[in-house]
Amino acid sequence: MMSNSPLVNYTRISPNRNSPRNQPISKITVHHMAGNLSVETCGNVFAPSSRQASSNYGIGSDGRVGMYVEEKDRSWASSSAWNDHRAVTIEVANDQIGGNWHVSDAAWNKLVELCVDICRRNGMKSLVWTGGTDGSLTCHYMYASTNCPGPYLKGRMAELARTVTARLGGASGPSTSGGSSAPSGSVADLANRVIAGEFGNGDARKAALGDRFAEVQAEVIRILNVGGSTSSPSVDIDQMARDVIAGKYGNGDARKKALGSNYAAVQARVNELLGASGGSSGGADIDALARAVIRGDYGNGEERKRRLGSLYDAVQARVNQLL
Ligand SMILES: [Zn+2]
Repeated sequence: MMSNSPLVNYTRISPNRNSPRNQPISKITVHHMAGNLSVETCGNVFAPSSRQASSNYGIGSDGRVGMYVEEKDRSWASSSAWNDHRAVTIEVANDQIGGNWHVSDAAWNKLVELCVDICRRNGMKSLVWTGGTDGSLTCHYMYASTNCPGPYLKGRMAELARTVTARLGGASGPSTSGGSSAPSGSVADLANRVIAGEFGNGDARKAALGDRFAEVQAEVIRILNVGGSTSSPSVDIDQMARDVIAGKYGNGDARKKALGSNYAAVQARVNELLGASGGSSGGADIDALARAVIRGDYGNGEERKRRLGSLYDAVQARVNQLL
């Protein structure tokens, strides 16, 4: 359930909003008031429907916080429905009119505190500044021809993101300081642990890997495709099954560990390829067939290929091993 900040000192709900927002909260957008407004005055500005503007919160130069649109609702702040449905928007008062549009230390410190609070309550593990709309920290000027939030705040957005993320427990790096942060280790190391089954599948894997999911998953796919002929970015079960048959994944528990989350699918395909007659060696006796091939029972070239059928690759691989 979406909640509102306990840091709020004054509430005056504006009619200028969409209720409820149509996206979960994943962003914070910083604005400046272009004036030194108290939170009450800012509430007056957003009160008439003719104004057609609002924000979720406002921060005065004294560090007090006003709420004008509840977090569950979309404010009309950033000239972008796309952004405002995702963002909690914050207006910050200026203690300098014009120039750099400076804000007071009290306002800045409360902005940091409010951002940390918003992230915590809404499951945002970090605040990311990319300078673009893809970051979780955004600004008005990204969506409209405006100077908002002014040079002073703009110049401190990267610092704001860093500071807030650090206070959230530092999910930005490969460290494991927070309880719910991503695991440590190199990408290659984590990928191998994924393949070994340590992190489970689907959503469980995603949750376990946290911020590192994308990079680790990409490496997993890369590893599993090495030696495969496919260029598609998905696990090639068929190729893995042939590799199993060729002995590349060992047997029993070693095979299970090496195939990790793909074990069931690959083993099923192995059984299919081998005719699934059961037995711990998986049906056809590749080793015996390989020895028969070496004896000459299956001929050469195309004839050998035809007679071995779907087992050809596996048997030939074993033949090559034995020779
Ligand atoms: Zn603005």
